[in-house]
Amino acid sequence: KQQKVQSEKIYDTQCPYCSMQCKMQLIEQKIISRKKQKTIGKDNPTSQGRLCVKGMNAHQHALHHDRLKQPMRQINGEFEPITWDEAYRIIQEQFEQIQSEDGKDALSVYGSASVTNEEAYLLGKFARVALETKHIDYNGRLCMASAATGANMTFGMDRGFTNTLQEIPNTRCIILAGTNIAECQPTIMPYFEKAKENGAYIVAIDPRETSTTKLADLHIKNIPGTDVAIANGVLKILIDLDLIDHAFIEERTEDFSEVKEYIQTIKLDDIAKTTGVSLDDLYQIALVFGRESSGMIFTARGVEQQINGTETVRSFLNLLLATGKIGKRNSGYGAITGQGNGQGAREHGQKADQLPGYRLIENPEDRQYIADVWGIKEQNLPRKGVSAYEMFEKIIAGDITSMFVMCSNPIVSNPNANLIKKALQKLKFLVVSDLFLSETAKLADLVLPATSYLEDEGTLTNVEGRVMLREASYPIQGEAKQDWEILCDIAQRLGKGKYFDFSNAEEIFEELRIASKGGKADYSGITYDRLRQEQGILWPCPSEDHAGTDRLFEDSFARENGKAKMAVIPYQSIDNKPAVTQEYPLYLTTGRVMSHYLTGEQTRKSPSLAARDFEAFLEIHPQTAEKYEIEADSLVRVTSEKGWIIVRCRLSTSIRKDTVFVPFHWTEKQNVNRLVSDQLDPYCRMPGFKMSVVRLSPVN
Ligand code: SF4
Repeated sequence: KQQKVQSEKIYDTQCPYCSMQCKMQLIEQKIISRKKQKTIGKDNPTSQGRLCVKGMNAHQHALHHDRLKQPMRQINGEFEPITWDEAYRIIQEQFEQIQSEDGKDALSVYGSASVTNEEAYLLGKFARVALETKHIDYNGRLCMASAATGANMTFGMDRGFTNTLQEIPNTRCIILAGTNIAECQPTIMPYFEKAKENGAYIVAIDPRETSTTKLADLHIKNIPGTDVAIANGVLKILIDLDLIDHAFIEERTEDFSEVKEYIQTIKLDDIAKTTGVSLDDLYQIALVFGRESSGMIFTARGVEQQINGTETVRSFLNLLLATGKIGKRNSGYGAITGQGNGQGAREHGQKADQLPGYRLIENPEDRQYIADVWGIKEQNLPRKGVSAYEMFEKIIAGDITSMFVMCSNPIVSNPNANLIKKALQKLKFLVVSDLFLSETAKLADLVLPATSYLEDEGTLTNVEGRVMLREASYPIQGEAKQDWEILCDIAQRLGKGKYFDFSNAEEIFEELRIASKGGKADYSGITYDRLRQEQGILWPCPSEDHAGTDRLFEDSFARENGKAKMAVIPYQSIDNKPAVTQEYPLYLTTGRVMSHYLTGEQTRKSPSLAARDFEAFLEIHPQTAEKYEIEADSLVRVTSEKGWIIVRCRLSTSIRKDTVFVPFHWTEKQNVNRLVSDQLDPYCRMPGFKMSVVRLSPVN
């Protein structure tokens, strides 16, 4: 019998998880004495009312009883609640003492790509102005850095998508390199399904069969880590068969002759052997991509999270430039960002080498401009720090002795997790601001309760580069505070309150607009009022009468001479593929499952999502399992040079026989990042998560 709904409230919000940033509504009903909640999609230009299973259940973690509701201090292994005033007093005392003993740069800040643009911007300012330290970086370094660096080097600018989602259905050929959008950004899939319906030819490059590769006309199940060789092989065939756009190359690019010279030295037979891809398949990609009138290439973590991730991205961008498939309707590039605000959070100063608006911290004019906006002297603006993972190495070396972590769980998300734990334990003082007592927060001296997406207002920039406003109307849980409020309060205690005199997110956005003006990620024409009326604006948007930029590079690229730079990328130039040996005979690759997000800190709290995938697993080909005497559904120990984990195996013919796969959303003995190498991409300092070598042994 249906119970009578006594009252109903609807809260407009935006999904906290992936970069699609689907608009949605939390509906809260009161039935007799209990509350019932559900989340539904809300129509908007990008997700068009769709939600995936994560979005539909996002309220479950936000309203979870484990949410931190007041500040806590850890004494002798026990957390005890304290007041905000007490928490701020401790932070002030500790930060001041540590800086007087160990120097300004002994303090460090570890940020996140799940926070709003306002909070990302403010965190960068907080580190440099309130703490006066050069050490700030964020978890986006672990996932978008190579695509951003590759695009910057090639085009002079990095906006995830050069075109809008709306152009995807009309393109004629699509290459999906290392992306499992069906599980990671499910609501983007209809754009690709529509393209297919319209006759587009889709190529998917992935060592595993996934729900995404099933959409493809051609699935390239290559040897992991050989993507540069595939791109070079395709480029060679394009050049050999003269399927390149000479006029575009001449007018819009530079260094093609060097690239051509190198490409002519490679042998397709060697490429086929290196990649495990047949010559027929390489020809098929080149013929379709070269002959079709339009085409798009999308990359994601599968090819980006490699030690040669930047070079891999650049090798695929070479294909777009050689065929003139960029800067045009229905042709372009998309880096499919993973984190909710993966795009916006990488634009406004959370990175060690960056200032707001994609300005550079070592560029004298950029430094002066931002120092003026912030009202400080240029010489007081700290210099470039080190990347996220390198901060932990600096802790081990004793150079960094304190860390403030905002909305991130580095102990689970970084490679070589054992070293990260050791580093965090070594700190004199660790403060974590988060929703839950995460694995990282458990090691903290002080834990601060932050607000969830339902309570935290601000803008986020979606996968395309579309700035969207997420209003907040849900009551704040307990004594939690918005991250920007926490930063302003601490700055006040440190005597820097005049630089952080904000009373809401919109006031911070107003300063961000000025700070980004004239930069590459120019938000200066975007206002909260416009965002309310226009449902999102694509940057660059340099004035309030500018409509935003749907398509990039139509007339020129963002490099000084207006041309895109092609690059010679020898596929052997960075040895990104650890050799399998007798001791470690299998490749290990990692990734996501649909029901979980990042380290799983939020999604594992959701009963509906946890029930779908409640533990990590090892995907292994049945013949490989037989070879190592591993039975279906049994527990298996996976060991690399860095450590070991124990997970249950799932037999599947969808994976190569020389490769195993483990998703990365679990902790402790199920945390696959314990196994991953800490080698970094030399250009962007991102770790090569996707390539490790391991051995397996049954657990009896
Ligand atoms: Fe949309 Fe991504 Fe949230 Fe799913 S996880 S509802 S695709 S924003």
